[in-house]
Amino acid sequence: MIRLEEILDKVEKHHPGDKLDLIRRAYIFSAKEHKGQVRASGEPYLTHPLEVANLLAEMKMDAVTVGVGLLHDVVEDTLTTLDKIEELFGPEVAHIVDGVTKISQIQFTSKEEKQAENFRKMLLAMTDDIRVIMVKFADRLHNMRTLAYLPSERRQAIARETLEIYAPLANRLGMGKIRGELEDLAFSYLDAKAHEELKDLVEKNRKKHEAFLAEVTGMVQQKMREHGIPCFTQSRIKRLYSIHLKLKKQRIAIDQVYDLLALRLITDSVKNCYAALGVIHNTWRPVPGRIKDFIAMPRPNMYQSLHTSVIAGGQPFEVQIRTAEMHQIAEEGIAAHWKYKDGKLVADDREDQRVSWLRHLVELQQEMKDPADFLSTLKIDLYPAEVYTFTPKGKVITLPRDATPVDFAYAIHTEVGHTCVGAKINNRMTPLRTKLRNGDIVEIITQSGHKPSRDWLSFVKTSRARNKIRHWLTEQESEKAIELGRKLVEKEARKYKQSVKELLEGGKLDAILPEYGSSKIEDLLSAIGYGKVSAKQIIARLVPDGVKEAVPEEESKITSVVKRVFGLGTDAKLQVKGFDDLLVYRAKCCNPIRGEEVIGYITRGKGVAVHSKNCPNVQNLLYDADRKVDVVWAGAAPAAESYAVPLTIVTEDRPGMLAEIAAAISDVKANILNVEARTADERGTIDITVEIPDMKHLERVIMSIKKIDGVYDVSRSTKTLNIAR
Ligand code: MN
Repeated sequence: MIRLEEILDKVEKHHPGDKLDLIRRAYIFSAKEHKGQVRASGEPYLTHPLEVANLLAEMKMDAVTVGVGLLHDVVEDTLTTLDKIEELFGPEVAHIVDGVTKISQIQFTSKEEKQAENFRKMLLAMTDDIRVIMVKFADRLHNMRTLAYLPSERRQAIARETLEIYAPLANRLGMGKIRGELEDLAFSYLDAKAHEELKDLVEKNRKKHEAFLAEVTGMVQQKMREHGIPCFTQSRIKRLYSIHLKLKKQRIAIDQVYDLLALRLITDSVKNCYAALGVIHNTWRPVPGRIKDFIAMPRPNMYQSLHTSVIAGGQPFEVQIRTAEMHQIAEEGIAAHWKYKDGKLVADDREDQRVSWLRHLVELQQEMKDPADFLSTLKIDLYPAEVYTFTPKGKVITLPRDATPVDFAYAIHTEVGHTCVGAKINNRMTPLRTKLRNGDIVEIITQSGHKPSRDWLSFVKTSRARNKIRHWLTEQESEKAIELGRKLVEKEARKYKQSVKELLEGGKLDAILPEYGSSKIEDLLSAIGYGKVSAKQIIARLVPDGVKEAVPEEESKITSVVKRVFGLGTDAKLQVKGFDDLLVYRAKCCNPIRGEEVIGYITRGKGVAVHSKNCPNVQNLLYDADRKVDVVWAGAAPAAESYAVPLTIVTEDRPGMLAEIAAAISDVKANILNVEARTADERGTIDITVEIPDMKHLERVIMSIKKIDGVYDVSRSTKTLNIAR
């Protein structure tokens, strides 16, 4: 087992004066918490956090990160709570431990490449501190090194996740060393046969290749000395997984891989990089088309180098030339140039002379083909615009920030959206307007026949959900309009004593459809229902001339309908907001009168019923909120308008009461249309219908009656009806 002192030495070397005490305390705590636990290998569990901490120290991480390395599994695998960690080690450590724990709880299951990309983005989106990812890399690297001890199925799953998620992520962050090791380890588990064959092939020639590399290395060093270019060199045989990919992609044999062997030359300046390239090309013949200048054109992950392939004695090999600084970035990536102050990423002081790395990155991304994708690597620092959620089967659903389960449902399927009645987030029932967070597992509960609600429009965030809901509502509204249009046409036709069926069929209507911009009868009926086209006009076109003469001239369609329903003056009408010419009638249950607050309700086939807002039936109607429409009293009350209002008066049972009431009504200039009185239990109940022009007048009538001695109560009669639905 690695010793704590070794780790402390490494941290002290890279971060002199950093909080070594925190690492010591974390070690003691972790040892205590993991006591008695063993790894699959049979070793004490503590070996794992120790190795992770050591890897982090080697990655030049600070004391906090190394401390988290020791503590990273305690919340997940022991009874320790996050609160305890915060109490003992402070909020910074607790925050990173929490981040690592959250990521560990997500199971990556999908095999789709696009899903893998979403998952990588999600990991970054979930991470507000890059040290979380660093701990995760170290954790994964040690787990991969000791993967052999796990059962085969687990091995496969972890190796796949490593290859699809963590290795590309390491690459994106420019951490070449970690990426290489993760890939080769994963490859050996995922395709053991190919790995074994390739390994044999490479091993067979290893001695020969190593001797070759030693020889050219000697020559390069000598040539560079002759030209006064300071340098140190490294050489390598290409990693197995890289060879594997290249063989597969280019369908070539291993001896055709030009960069199977490579020599790395690290010098002091960009100028000397190009000078060294010249020297190399003077020494060996370059392979045409193999020169790549990643110094002038860095890769998205900041990798910079000059690459060339040359042939020495028939053996091709690659030469990579870079400065020491470029080399550090290539190996350590994002970790190379950042350090942490107060939990925030800050550019390294050594960068002072140069453009800060962030600025460099931003400049770079402006030249990129896909800046959005590139920027997602920087989101660690920035506010993520997206939220990454899962289906219960592990599919990643990417939604905009603040999206809700309804957005999620529509993202899955329109029908799932339409019929969604509830949602479970992380197995808990939650309201449909809940804002989703990264990593949420969302299960949509549907009920066949359920319909979208207009309310949803107030909280959905995706245009997809919004459009689908709107589309559905429009369709529904249009059905209602068709229904109303048909009704209006029927009523109009009746006046001409014509059969609607005969009028609508028989081709006559079809002939005039285009004039109204309609292609089918339903479109025209809907236009009539919406009030865009008058039914009277249409019917007038359809009835035979002779019949038309016989019908008396009359007022506009809607007025006559209202008049018939109300039995009132010509101007008594109600208007449905947004619909000019709808069939409208006052509900019989509450008989609303001018001046009263009213609400319209679209009935099935009977037009719009107008209720008083106080009508108890309105409460019952609320369950079908979509059929409610706003209505207003149109214009000023004309002189002729009046309403019949039934009142119920409860009185003391005494002689002369009825006469006094009649006088009180007549005093305020209202007519009595009908009276019915009865007595029971020494009480009189009088049902009386008065005729008044508006609400104000009704109030005067009621006040006047109430003033009479012995009147207990006056109220408007309301019947609770079974509304036709
Ligand atoms: Mn671990």
